Amino acid sequence: MRFLPVFLDLKAGPVVLIGAGELLRAKLRVLAAAGARIRVHAIDDNHDLNLSSEDAARIEIATGDPLAADLAGVIAVVCAGAGDVGVAMSVRAKALGLPVNVMDDLEHSSFIFPAIVDRGDVVVAVGTGGTSPVVARRVREKIEALLPARIGELAEFIGGFRKSINERIAEFPLRRRFWERVIDGPIGASVLAGRKGEADAAIKAISDPSAFARADKPEGSVTLVGAGPGDPDLLTIKALRALQDADIVFHDELVSPEILDRIRRDTTRVPVGRRVGKPGIGQDAINKRMIEAAQSGQRVVRLKGGDPFVFGRGGEEVEALRTAGVAYSIVPGITAGLGGAADFEVPLTYRHEATRITFLTAHKARDAETVDWSTLTDTKMTVVVYMGMTAAPAIRAGLFAAGRSPETPVGVFARVTRPDAQGAIGTLRDLPELVRRTNGGPAILIIGDVVRHAGSLRRQTPKKNSAQIISDLLDAAE
Ligand code: SAH
Repeated sequence: MRFLPVFLDLKAGPVVLIGAGELLRAKLRVLAAAGARIRVHAIDDNHDLNLSSEDAARIEIATGDPLAADLAGVIAVVCAGAGDVGVAMSVRAKALGLPVNVMDDLEHSSFIFPAIVDRGDVVVAVGTGGTSPVVARRVREKIEALLPARIGELAEFIGGFRKSINERIAEFPLRRRFWERVIDGPIGASVLAGRKGEADAAIKAISDPSAFARADKPEGSVTLVGAGPGDPDLLTIKALRALQDADIVFHDELVSPEILDRIRRDTTRVPVGRRVGKPGIGQDAINKRMIEAAQSGQRVVRLKGGDPFVFGRGGEEVEALRTAGVAYSIVPGITAGLGGAADFEVPLTYRHEATRITFLTAHKARDAETVDWSTLTDTKMTVVVYMGMTAAPAIRAGLFAAGRSPETPVGVFARVTRPDAQGAIGTLRDLPELVRRTNGGPAILIIGDVVRHAGSLRRQTPKKNSAQIISDLLDAAE
């Protein structure tokens, strides 16, 4: 790290801002929004800074040579559009030991401006070491989407009670535990939901804060999270939060590495998936381990491909959690069938043409033999088949026998929403061949007239996800 993120106390003194034109005005806006006292040297003598009366009170227009100006008591020097004067100011500031930023000039800067997420008392600074402000802004947008809207209010709420709690709980670790319980429990949830009155009443009702902090172990819980079909950008905001909050994550084999990357670094990850040919740890063992982890007070995430309640055994896990009396919640995900439909532009319903959808699993030929294919002959029904690769010949035979036309359009869509997604489109007659053409990996089959509407199989050119876009931007910026 060349630049350590720190927070400058704007109450300690004025910031000197030197420069000209729009660059100067832009920096002035940033500093004014932060609440800084600012001394401005407009070296082009254009003092028309368009200040609101509120800002004007904190902004002093300086005249005279900035290189000769008195810098006593100044907390930082900022140059924006100042040309050679900026460079000379940097030399001066450095000699005085003052932090200095010369816009777009790392060599002459001893500090740089991060992209800022401002949520009241919660401020997030994002930096890229000065390499690419564009990337920093993209990251900021992501954080803005991720932070609960009222996170600043939560910080303010805690700030309001901090002193009185400090007086009542002497030991620091216990104090921390107190706040963790408040934030993670119903009081924190009330503040984030905008019910501050309720939160106020609840915290005041705690008669013995030390006992509250110490009280049994924190309650563990399990969140069943749908990870979607692979593209990490298809995680819901709730899923992402659950991953960030988890102490331990039990994940399926199908969950993509890019999604596992979104788990907090210090979180324990336990792969519990089954793979064709390899034995997994077994459903009972998974249930048992999740329950034990939750009962020991951990926040457990059970991360599943697609949606937990679509061929994901989420139902069985919920029943086990209910029986064990463990608190749980469910975050839905985008199921592979929907991911594939969007990826390859196959509308699953279409006015007058397709009025029903069936989601079906046919794991092995044996499973396919137990499916009642006669219920799937309605030509206005779209059939979405999961785990249907090896059973493809049996699926075809079943549908033929039931009387569905060999000309029924079929799409095989493998590794949907991932960079290496691949599709093959044809008719029911060619189904096994279509399966071969998609080169393995998880795939869904979509059977029905709607497959005619599929977009081009453009996905043979790898698609980028946001992580790749950002790294490309970084490369471009270098
Ligand atoms: N709960 C998951 C399904 C698990 S069953 C969901 O809702 O998506 C596993 C099957 O899902 C695979 O055999 C395959 O048919 C399908 N699948 C999962 N991820 C996929 C992907 N990225 N592309 C295509 N099919 C996928």
